[in-house]
Amino acid sequence: MLSHEQSSGVAAQQCDTYAWFSQRAWVEIDLAALSHNVQQLRRFLSPRTQLMAVVKADAYGHGSVTVAQTVLQSGASWLGVATVPEGIQLREAGIKAPILILGATHTPEQIHAIAHWKLQPTICSPKQALIFSDILEAINYSSPVPVHIKLDTGMSRLGTNWQQAAEFVQLVQRLPHLNIASIYSHLATADSLDPAVMKLQHQRFREAIAQIKALGIKPPCLHLANSAAALSDKALHYDMVRVGLAVYGLYPAEHLRSCIDLQPVLQVRARVTQVKTIAAGTGVSYGHQFVAPHELRIAVVGIGYADGVPRNLSNKMQVIVRGQKVAQLGAITMDQLMIDVSAIPDLQEGEIVTLLGQEGKQQISADDWANQLNTISWEILCGFKHRLPRVAVI
Ligand SMILES: *Cc1c(COP(=O)(O)O)cnc(C)c1O
Repeated sequence: MLSHEQSSGVAAQQCDTYAWFSQRAWVEIDLAALSHNVQQLRRFLSPRTQLMAVVKADAYGHGSVTVAQTVLQSGASWLGVATVPEGIQLREAGIKAPILILGATHTPEQIHAIAHWKLQPTICSPKQALIFSDILEAINYSSPVPVHIKLDTGMSRLGTNWQQAAEFVQLVQRLPHLNIASIYSHLATADSLDPAVMKLQHQRFREAIAQIKALGIKPPCLHLANSAAALSDKALHYDMVRVGLAVYGLYPAEHLRSCIDLQPVLQVRARVTQVKTIAAGTGVSYGHQFVAPHELRIAVVGIGYADGVPRNLSNKMQVIVRGQKVAQLGAITMDQLMIDVSAIPDLQEGEIVTLLGQEGKQQISADDWANQLNTISWEILCGFKHRLPRVAVI
């Protein structure tokens, strides 16, 4: 067995049909870190605030069923998904917790599936509310469907303008097949150092709720905060917080690092498939974007951009091998990339390379990649393709 496996004692709990150790590359999901993050968040929230774990986009690339089961055991009580099929996948896996669909749904097929699988839709407009009502009436659906009213307080994405909140809520309340389970909005700038827009959105949310209450309607549940808002201001917690990124152990912004201790859940590893020495002046990979300035020992690693390693990191990224950081060389190809292992002359084929995550004292985070690519860690996490098996590690 290889040194990395011995040292980390990775007793993999299989969540894929292929034996993980026979893979050329894989994603490790650290369930202990996931559980830790949920417990940290739970401790940070008041006992009356519910924790919704947002598991859309296959749990930000981590694998939604495994993540959902773990977070529900660790203190989350709701799940958030983007689409109907994402919700069905969780129900088919036997998950009973309430599931909010954060995206818009309109078609009869979507509405039938929502009723059948007991998913809970977001209602963004009076028109959508009426479509739901008509379709549930047509299928003679017996019990009212719990729905979540979405207000636009400044994100300019889904939702009815906050100034029309009272009329909107009144209309939905009159529809016999719909039962308002919550009223919510979404913040556009909660990760910013400048709180001005967030404060304005919060003020609009408060005003909308005040108008709804003035009609004698008592909203059963209010929620506003994503990860950044949950970490930045307890006044934004209301009855529930909808947390994605922080559950996966990443901070939405540098200035929010001090709030709680989070541990990254996802690690990406691949194997060395060949090791060779190249002479000075030898070009590496397509386009020879890298030319060896002197003799080098290089290794080929079995992972590429078709697995989700962004090609724009070519010649820029580092990887960790035997506990030390080494440079990636030349263009990243679809299924393979090359690294400089001159510092580890006895490196063997089959040894493990860490692309993202920790090995020994070294660490490379999704934030490192995001900074190099001028994007956000959310996109990095969602970028790993299904060709990489997800392996749960305890
Ligand atoms: C994705 C999403 C969240 C979670 O956002 P994070 O920044 O990852 O915590 C919360 N609410 C809504 C409406 C979302 O779409």
